[in-house]
Formats: sequence, C-alpha cells, structure tokens
Amino acid sequence: MRLTRYFLPVLRENPAEAQIVSHRLMLRAGMIRQQAAGIYSWLPLGFRVLRRIEAIVHDEQQRAGHIPLLMPTLQPADLWRESGRYDDYGQEMLRIKDRHGRDMLYGPTNEEMITDIFRAHVESYKSLPLTLYHIQWKFRDEVRPRFGVMRGREFLMKDGYNFDVDYDSAMHAYNRHMVSYLRTYERMGLHAIPMRADSGPIGGDDTHEFLVLADTGESEVFYDKAILDLKMGGRNVDYTDRAACAAIVHEWTTPYARTDETHDVSLYHALPQDRQATSRAIEVGQIFYFGTKYSEPMGAMVVNEHGERVPVHMGSHGIGVSRLLGAIIEASHDDKGIVWPEGVTPFPVGIVNLRQGDTATDAACDMLYAALTARGLEPLYDDRDERAGAKFASMDLIGLPWRITVGPRGLANGKVELTSRRSGESEEMSPEAAVDRVAQIYAGV
Ligand code: ATP
Ligand code: MG
Repeated sequence: MRLTRYFLPVLRENPAEAQIVSHRLMLRAGMIRQQAAGIYSWLPLGFRVLRRIEAIVHDEQQRAGHIPLLMPTLQPADLWRESGRYDDYGQEMLRIKDRHGRDMLYGPTNEEMITDIFRAHVESYKSLPLTLYHIQWKFRDEVRPRFGVMRGREFLMKDGYNFDVDYDSAMHAYNRHMVSYLRTYERMGLHAIPMRADSGPIGGDDTHEFLVLADTGESEVFYDKAILDLKMGGRNVDYTDRAACAAIVHEWTTPYARTDETHDVSLYHALPQDRQATSRAIEVGQIFYFGTKYSEPMGAMVVNEHGERVPVHMGSHGIGVSRLLGAIIEASHDDKGIVWPEGVTPFPVGIVNLRQGDTATDAACDMLYAALTARGLEPLYDDRDERAGAKFASMDLIGLPWRITVGPRGLANGKVELTSRRSGESEEMSPEAAVDRVAQIYAGV
C-alpha cells in the first residue's frame, strides 16, 4: 500500500478524551473513530489489525477441532424467556421492538441461540463431541463505556460453545479451549495468564479468565512469578489426546494466579516472598463449564449409549477480539507510539523514501515494494513528499515492527537500512538482503 493512496488520518494532537495509552494511540494512529459512547468505526489501519486478530483466533480454534458458523446479532426475546435470562439480564441488554411489536434484543452473548440450534438438529451422542463458535458483534449497554475498545458497548467477541455427552468429555472440551487460548494469545505476542475466576451471571462451576498484566487493567490480580516463565512455544498439541491437554492445563494452572474475586490470602502468602506479585490486568478471555444449565430448561437432549435421553453438558468460551487491540497496545508501546508484535501488525514492514522524486531512490523503493509484495509481505510505502523526520514519526506512531529506509547516500553504496521498531537498532544491507531478512522474520510467525 502506498501511503499517498491510503486512508490513514493520523492526529498530531493528543485527543483529550483518551485516558489510557492504547485509546490515545489508536485515535492518533487513525485506527478508530468513536460514533457514540462505546461504539466505534474501524478505520482501515485498525480494521487490518482486527482482521489479523480474527484470523489467528479462527486458525487456532479450527486447529483444536472447533467449527465456525455465524449467528445473527439480533435475537428474539422468546429464546431468552425460555432460559429465564430475559428478565435477569437487566439494563445491559439492549432491547428492541420490531414493527410488529415483537420483542427483540441485540445479543450480549449466544448461549440460548446456540442451544436452540443444537436441539433442532442433534439427537444422539454419536454426533458428539461438538464445539461450534463464531466471531460476531455483541452489544452490552455498559454503565461506563471507556478506554476506547477496551470497554465498548458494541464489541467483537469470539464465543464458542461445546456440547458433550458427559462431564469428562465436557472437561476435555474445557481443556482444549484453555490450550487453544494460550496458543492464540502467544501468537499475538501476549502473555495471558489463566486465573481461577468467579462464575458471575453466566453461572458455572469451572471457569478461568485470561489476564494480560497492564497498569491500566480493570482487574486486580495476585500471582506466582513462576507463571511468567511458562511458554507454549512451538509445541505440537494433539487436541484429541485428553491426557496431553490435561497436562498442559495442569502446568498452567498449578502456579498460584487469581483475580481479587477468588484471591486466597493464605495460599498466596505460602509462596516464597520473592515470587509473590500483584498487578493490574486486562481480561482478554474467559472459559466456562456450566453443565446442563441451558440444556435442561431448553430441552437440548441427546440419547446416550445406554439409550437414555439426557441433557447435554455445555460450556461457553469467549475471547475479547476487539478488546485485544487495546490490550496488545497496552502491553507493547513506547513514548513514540505503538510497537506491533509481528503476529498482528497491520503491515509487516514499512518503506521510507528519504528523497521522494529522486529517480534512483524512487526506483529502489519500487523494486523493494514489488519484491516484498511478491513474497506475500505487503509493505506500507511512505511515498509522501515529506521531511524524513515526519515520515519516521508516522512510522513510529503506527508501530510497524520493521522499517526499510531508502536514501541517495546509502544507495550510492548499494545499501538500504533495516530498522527494528522494538530495539531501534538499524543495519545496512543490500535491498535484496533486506527483503530476504524480512521474509525470514515472518516465515516463523
Ligand atoms: P468484563 O468483566 O470485562 O465486563 P465479562 O466477564 O462480562 O467482561 P465475558 O462475558 O467473559 O465478559 O466475555 C468474553 C470476553 O469479551 C471478555 O473476556 C472480554 O475480553 C470481552 N469483553 C467483555 N465485555 C466487553 C466490552 N464491554 N468491551 C470489549 N470487550 C469486552
Ligand atoms: Mg468474563
């Protein structure tokens, strides 16, 4: 993409309404525009990152054997009357009447609807296990929408629902979700810690939240520092292997890690003092096992292997897709702007032309542009007629992890400069070598 043909409405001034750094940087980098409290348009740069995050979520869910579908944003109230939640949900639910006076709502979550789909089409344990998920907009009329996409009213969520014939099988689904979530966050450059949580209004026995440490987080957490050393890394997970999934869950849930809601002071103080840590943190996901809470009242039954009709065991599992943009920026920025991890960056690399209009410099940039594009690494080429300083400032603000700088002086020696946004370090090399290096970096992402 050439910057002169793109739509990147960067702000020079710090927007007054933004209280936290991720919100400020998303506005300044031209990623979002607020349309009403907690409701945003996703401008092209923000939309690219949102799509990258979605792609990782899809990839990891499908790797775990979970099946994508798409349910609507608007739901009939009657479904929620069946589960009893229509009245319980309170003011967070946006209630709408259609022209015939029928009660509708903008879905804050989809347990009822997925249970309805299940009961209409599944009868036997032989169709199980089954996990269906979607990535869809949700609406919750939050009392205090704030911090940009972190606490929106309209927000994008991945929500998945498992259906299993018994408790053991449902716990395997729970474990699959935990493992796939750990992989998902790690691919986004995040260290998200699973923490025992309270079940809240969705109800349930087993539940973990995934928290990213950040000063601006809304949760207070207590943890054993040993958990920070855990990595999923490149390990290959066999999601059909119950023992293997359970072992990973055991590994990640053994070090103490809890939110203030479930914090146990005596367990925490039993840790060696130098491993006790407390912080603010951002909730980027949550998994629940809730058994037959919805299947029973809504009649989602299957015939088990003994020929008995039993309510199906369920769980629901959410990732805050749009909140993740804010969380990633909170975890990865400096005083010049965003520092995107390679896994989610809107463009893998930027090209800065130091002498726009100079024949040789323009030609070298065009060559780099074509070579990178041919290797599936679409660059953002700053081809504006601007001073070098302004170009660097924009690149630093929008946070592409790698930048290739092209100027007449370097080209005289056949060199361009490759710079890491994270470390600030630069290295001179031939344009061909720079393309190879960038390709190498992204081959492992
Ligand atoms: P919170 O405690 O932050 O209000 P929640 O526990 O009510 O969130 P869940 O029902 O667990 O939310 O939804 C799954 C995920 O969706 C959350 O872990 C969070 O990342 C994201 N999420 C929830 N509410 C919002 C919101 N208002 N704006 C953006 N993301 C949200
Ligand atoms: Mg939650």
